[in-house]
Amino acid sequence: MTKMITAEELKKQRPYSEKVRRHYIQQKPDSPPLACVRTYGCQQNVADSERIKGMLAEMGFGFTDIAEEADLILFNTCAVREHASDRVFGNVGALKTIKRRRPEVLIAVCGCMVQQPHVAEKFWKSYPFVGLVFGTHVIHQFPQLLYRALTGGKRVSETPQEDGVIAEGIPVKRDGTFKAWLPIMYGCNNFCTYCVVPHVRGRERSRDPEIILNEARQLVAAGYKEITLLGQNVNSYGKGESHGVDFAGLLRLVNAIPGDFTIRFMTSHPKDATPALFDTIAACEKVSHHFHLPFQSGNDRVLQAMNRRYTREQYLELIRYARQVIPDISFTSDVIVGFPGETREEFEDTLSLVKEVGFTSLFTFIFSPRRGTPAAEMEDPIPLETKTAWLQELNALQEEMSAKRLAVLVGTKQRALLETAADGYLEARLADNSIVRVVADPALVGRYATIHVDDARSWVMHGTLCEVE
Ligand code: SAM
Ligand code: SF4
Repeated sequence: MTKMITAEELKKQRPYSEKVRRHYIQQKPDSPPLACVRTYGCQQNVADSERIKGMLAEMGFGFTDIAEEADLILFNTCAVREHASDRVFGNVGALKTIKRRRPEVLIAVCGCMVQQPHVAEKFWKSYPFVGLVFGTHVIHQFPQLLYRALTGGKRVSETPQEDGVIAEGIPVKRDGTFKAWLPIMYGCNNFCTYCVVPHVRGRERSRDPEIILNEARQLVAAGYKEITLLGQNVNSYGKGESHGVDFAGLLRLVNAIPGDFTIRFMTSHPKDATPALFDTIAACEKVSHHFHLPFQSGNDRVLQAMNRRYTREQYLELIRYARQVIPDISFTSDVIVGFPGETREEFEDTLSLVKEVGFTSLFTFIFSPRRGTPAAEMEDPIPLETKTAWLQELNALQEEMSAKRLAVLVGTKQRALLETAADGYLEARLADNSIVRVVADPALVGRYATIHVDDARSWVMHGTLCEVE
């Protein structure tokens, strides 16, 4: 049973918000307090940080990217790979000098890393300048925890180990003005043997479809052009809930909201991606024809050892079906190289799958053992140098494949969203998630445009702006 945080319970946070606001008015009567929030990891963390910033804004905080000038420095952390965790340890460690110079600064760490008991303990014992530590299941209690850390004279750590909660009604301060993240579910039940996510994010739980639709309607009314529905495995949306809306049903409902916007979603687990889902995408004109479908490995023995619960052939069959009903669909994927015990021949199955499918792009990772997961205990005879060489080989193959894919677009006109301004050009994203650079006025960021693709080099294309909508 999902634990719902009631409106009454959330209301209890309001007096703490007010107390934090007053605390800072007393401490700094001339200017509002500043928060520096750093986010690591996936879009779910980005969405959580947007809620944390929403609560901070309510408490009177302004925001800064410069840690040295902040009154509160908060790290929202990622535990998926060791490299991400090491970066956090290093970057938090570097804050010691700021704390020494300005003891009134509060340093806080939250998110997936501290949901691991050994990591919470490490912050507690070895990082005494960190004043507040809180896990993924108590974000809604942030005002109260912050108030305790600011005024209680003691460090605060709150990382309950539970199955997870749903808390509706937390204010959101969005980072973007035309692209929005919209969580539809939290947690994961899949327990892939390498992955720490189910251990730190709790069990799968879905938000109510009406609440999601209301949030989507508000985003469209506010002018957002792209809404990305988020979940660790969106295809499990609605499982075990009484409302009877599954992911395909939710897509149809969001698609029916009037307005000119695109729906994207991530991530999909191949074991739950069905032909019916692709039929729905084909029928929903606002749903992007891009699908992020992580395959992780092209070899059946490795897939089984990963507990992915599909075979190479089942994955390829899905791709074939999708291309039959949506001819212009594009795929991206995640791949793990050097899973414990993977042989050269098994790795070659990954290479051949990449060749067979033709992805737009890949996110490739070397296996990183995570404490508490079964794969971390498996025998792993392949040295890191070999795994690194395999990763480079895979990346080189993907670059070649991407270049071939993009070459086909040269000379065509494409609709794209003008996303970011950089060094004299704008980067625009096509429906298939690939990027085209155009020389254009930065004021056009956030608009759809038609772009003529002039040339293509590995992962990026250059084009000419034809028409802005
Ligand atoms: N739920 C999503 C899914 O199943 O595809 C993604 C979750 S995870 C945050 C994103 C990616 O990180 C995974 O698809 C996987 O490729 C990679 N990953 C997860 N655990 C890993 C590990 N222990 N070592 C290396 N890569 C890992
Ligand atoms: Fe991790 Fe697998 Fe769940 Fe994705 S589906 S979050 S890889 S356990």
